[in-house]
Amino acid sequence: MVTQKEFGHLWELLSEIPDPEIPVINLVELGVIRHIEEKPDQDKIIVTITPTYTGCPAKKLFQDLILEKLASKGYHNVEIISQLFPVWSTDWLTDETKEKLLKEGISPPTIGDKIVQCPKCKSTDTKMVSAFGSTPCQSLYTCNICSEPFNYFKCY
Ligand SMILES: [Zn+2]
Repeated sequence: MVTQKEFGHLWELLSEIPDPEIPVINLVELGVIRHIEEKPDQDKIIVTITPTYTGCPAKKLFQDLILEKLASKGYHNVEIISQLFPVWSTDWLTDETKEKLLKEGISPPTIGDKIVQCPKCKSTDTKMVSAFGSTPCQSLYTCNICSEPFNYFKCY
């Protein structure tokens, strides 16, 4: 990622923001922050974000957290662009991030969004209990093998 090298300090700053729903990972790890552009001539920063799913109510919260974080370092002229395409994808999560989610008992989205893996025993023999889990962006599942209830992180 070229932008990550160019504006390393800003990426570092924004990676201090924990995901409001899953605090063990930050907004950069989550892949919500797509692009950071600095316009020194206008003394302005443009941040492009992609919400994890289109109906995600945390979108407004993401924006507020980013503005607040940048303002704390003296960046007040910030524009946030919400980019819905390409849609957020599980491919944007690193293996390390997926591991962190599993440790929290959250099954990260799998490719195709159809196979849901139990974070405890790794079985894919699972069933949905409720479309909405502890947050609207998660669904509640249970494992048919070890009976572990867990949250599945929805991916659209
Ligand atoms: Zn299990």
